[in-house]
Amino acid sequence: MDKRAESVEIRSASKAYGAVRALDDVSLNVGAGEFVSLLGPSGSGKTTLLGILGGFILPSSGTILFGGRDVTWMPPHKRDIGVVFQNYALFPHMSVGENVAFPLRARRLPKASWPDKVRAALSMVGLAGYEERGIAQLSGGQRQRVALARAMIFEPRLILMDEPLSALDKQLRESMQIELRALHRRIGATIIYVTHDQREALTMSDRVAVMKDGRLIQIDEPERLHDHPADSFVASFIGEATMLPVRRVDAASVALGNALLRSARAIPDGDALMLAVHSEKLLIDDGAQDAACNRLTGTVTDIVYQGESLRIFLALADGIALSLRQPSYHQAYSRIPALGGSLTVTLHPEDTIVVPRVGD
Ligand code: ADP
Ligand code: MG
Repeated sequence: MDKRAESVEIRSASKAYGAVRALDDVSLNVGAGEFVSLLGPSGSGKTTLLGILGGFILPSSGTILFGGRDVTWMPPHKRDIGVVFQNYALFPHMSVGENVAFPLRARRLPKASWPDKVRAALSMVGLAGYEERGIAQLSGGQRQRVALARAMIFEPRLILMDEPLSALDKQLRESMQIELRALHRRIGATIIYVTHDQREALTMSDRVAVMKDGRLIQIDEPERLHDHPADSFVASFIGEATMLPVRRVDAASVALGNALLRSARAIPDGDALMLAVHSEKLLIDDGAQDAACNRLTGTVTDIVYQGESLRIFLALADGIALSLRQPSYHQAYSRIPALGGSLTVTLHPEDTIVVPRVGD
């Protein structure tokens, strides 16, 4: 398939259902060929925004442009988009091949052209030779692949996906995420992907748009979002962070209880500040770390074995609790004291993240 992609521009889109503001003045530009995820908790407006892009939901106000053309009032079938939902929405009485060919039938493409296109679409999702199978004979993962093949068969310039992997088990979901990444690189279409799973969004996306209560809170590349959250909502939603109230001391430091922590980032103004401590950024102090690091000492209250890593819970003075992770290789154990023992951890000023506190 040739690489064709559509840019998407959302200008001040809102949607009200009576008193509920499902979408509240969202503006967002997605570049041609970009993979952007809409990430947020249930009810944050993700499906509403995707529905507006697909033409299934009409906005109360705002404008949608594809490649600079106003499509706000254009019906779905004229938008040339591929759509994949969580519940595959396959036709159970049709074979795999018939399901995948359906968009070609709907578009009245000559029948002679179907078999080649079906074959190409199925092989793209790893289901070469499955044309004659019945839908009932497929696993959940295979059904989702059929839905993908069907969405891609007419080589759409834009693909919309709403939680397409959430019905699959963890292992399959994670391997499909890697496949979708590779598929996106191959086909080059613009993809807008809805998920409530932050790890899924970080894994696949060029950029992630975090939504809450119908509003767009932050859109950034995965690393940027994780390490430079805009506020305490984003910081607690992305990654594994302990959120602790801190007091601003000056532009480069905050007080956490009685401890003074230095940050290499500008500390925001205001009284309501939170420190976001990512568990992977706390290191056991073995004397090798930078002298500039912040140091925190506490008592080990629990050690949880979680397979690839150990999660260690620490109680600091002033009733402050923290957790850190250690990869579970052999020597890690010798560095962790027994329960009740004392442990000092370091937090680099570059990793000392202070954000404004917002209500959740
Ligand atoms: P998400 O996909 O992030 O879970 P939705 O976009 O489905 O969120 O919903 C956003 C908000 O709009 C929710 O509060 C939801 O209850 C409300 N909502 C969505 N669709 C309708 C509808 N058809 N009628 C009334 N309220 C709706
Ligand atoms: Mg939804």
